Amino acid sequence: MKQTLTQTLTHFINGQPAEGTSGRFADVYHPATGQIAARVPLASIDEVHLAVETAKTAQVQWEELNAQRRARILGRFVDLAHENMDELATALSNEHGKTFEDAKGDVQRGLEVIEFCMGAPHLLKGEFSDQSGTGIDTYSMRQPLGVTVGISPFNFPAMIPLWQAGPSLAAGNAFILKPSERDPSVPLMLADLFKQAGLPDGVFQVLNGDKTAVDALIEHPDIQAVGFVGSTPIAQAIYTAAAQHGKRAQCFGGAKNHAIIMPDADLDQAADALIGAAFGAAGERCMAISVAVPVGQETADALVQKLVEKARHLKVGPSLDPTSDFGPVVTPEAKERIEAAIAAGVEEGAELVLDGRGVTVEGHADGFYIGATIFDRATKDMSIYRQEIFGPVLTVIRADSFEEALDLPSDHEYGNGVAIFTRDGDTAREFTRRVNVGMVGVNVPIPVPIAYYTFGGWKASGFGDLNQHGPDAFRFVTRTKTVTQRWPSGVKEDASFTMPIQ
Ligand code: NAD
Repeated sequence: MKQTLTQTLTHFINGQPAEGTSGRFADVYHPATGQIAARVPLASIDEVHLAVETAKTAQVQWEELNAQRRARILGRFVDLAHENMDELATALSNEHGKTFEDAKGDVQRGLEVIEFCMGAPHLLKGEFSDQSGTGIDTYSMRQPLGVTVGISPFNFPAMIPLWQAGPSLAAGNAFILKPSERDPSVPLMLADLFKQAGLPDGVFQVLNGDKTAVDALIEHPDIQAVGFVGSTPIAQAIYTAAAQHGKRAQCFGGAKNHAIIMPDADLDQAADALIGAAFGAAGERCMAISVAVPVGQETADALVQKLVEKARHLKVGPSLDPTSDFGPVVTPEAKERIEAAIAAGVEEGAELVLDGRGVTVEGHADGFYIGATIFDRATKDMSIYRQEIFGPVLTVIRADSFEEALDLPSDHEYGNGVAIFTRDGDTAREFTRRVNVGMVGVNVPIPVPIAYYTFGGWKASGFGDLNQHGPDAFRFVTRTKTVTQRWPSGVKEDASFTMPIQ
């Protein structure tokens, strides 16, 4: 039985919560119980226009503030977020389904990027060439774009919005967040914390919505840049639409992250790492390991045995139960889709060595739970290998050699993350140099780069040339103006009609 609606959420426009006016809403679940916890308004085109107009006005003053003062506001935001960490993590856990500790990690990895963005005074510095011509200097400066937009996925409702917003705000832009409609509460809480930190009204706004809002934002002439994170088909469509409307875009998509396990690897360490990386957050991480590639039959037999042994003891349970290893998936549709993907794997002939379907969690019969699932002896043509499942499903595909193992992630449609487990430096080095994937871990299963490096996958996992966070993010949210200046003591020459050469 579904619980009656308990809460109607809002947008956050011009420094305050704003009720939706479109009359359209989406349900927000509490995946641990299966109940509907809230409904979220879906913005109309008029609401999009209002938010953009507000942002455009607010940005003018924000840009005038020097970068260090802007950075201090970000600093206060970080402090406030830490003070409110438990509330943020609880709300995140309730709507997403990840455990409380994992939810804190979601917030923390977002805050680390905000901390990086506090270095904006340095990151925004331009270049200067003295005497680039006789009596002439050339210099460049980085200026904000105006209003930028972030469209974020459900699986990191704090981290990704903060990755998108931090550089934009620090550089002097106004930012509009269109979060996932599945877990919109934390983005609204972040907006309130930004306000408490002293961010002027209208500089950070949250517009809840669906395709209608996204399309209107992309088409709006006053939006200068679009950051998107979500599934590949939408990422590609948004990248194309943004380009058609003359905007810069960085769009990050889905993943199928492989872990290569060499015969010399510490198998216990590798198995533990794989269990956490495959099943943590119920596999709903873009950097989750969803494919294990043991090299050699002996390695494969031993690894699969360890994986199954460890995974069968994992506890799937309510998100806020501290004994749960991982929680439910986000919606009933996600549960249905993942179970259908598992059924397809069986149908295609992969060996289902651990089946998480039909798991029961006492007292939570309607929650969206799926237990840890492992396939062995999958092949390249199977859908469980080709498609992103985005659930607690690990697929083992056996390779006979290093070259075969290297080719699997390199040839795969996706290229977000990859890991290799080995004790041999030469093997690891060759792998990291040759593999056709954007982020690589060596004996590290989820190689999410730290805030001051950039994050971005290759191939169908990322569209656009500039990555998230790190210095790339500041290039994405600023444009370069180059100035050539001369300060003559007086005009001593006649006009020149030829190009000056040095
Ligand atoms: P999604 O593509 O369904 O939704 C992402 C965002 O796009 C949401 O805000 C949603 O409202 C919006 N959206 C959905 N359909 C749209 C449409 N037709 N037109 C315009 N906007 C639309 O993704 P999701 O299910 O929320 O997130 C999971 C996906 O995100 C996975 O594929 C995962 O791999 C990917 N992801 C990638 C990264 C990365 O950095 N590469 C990080 C996190 C998640």
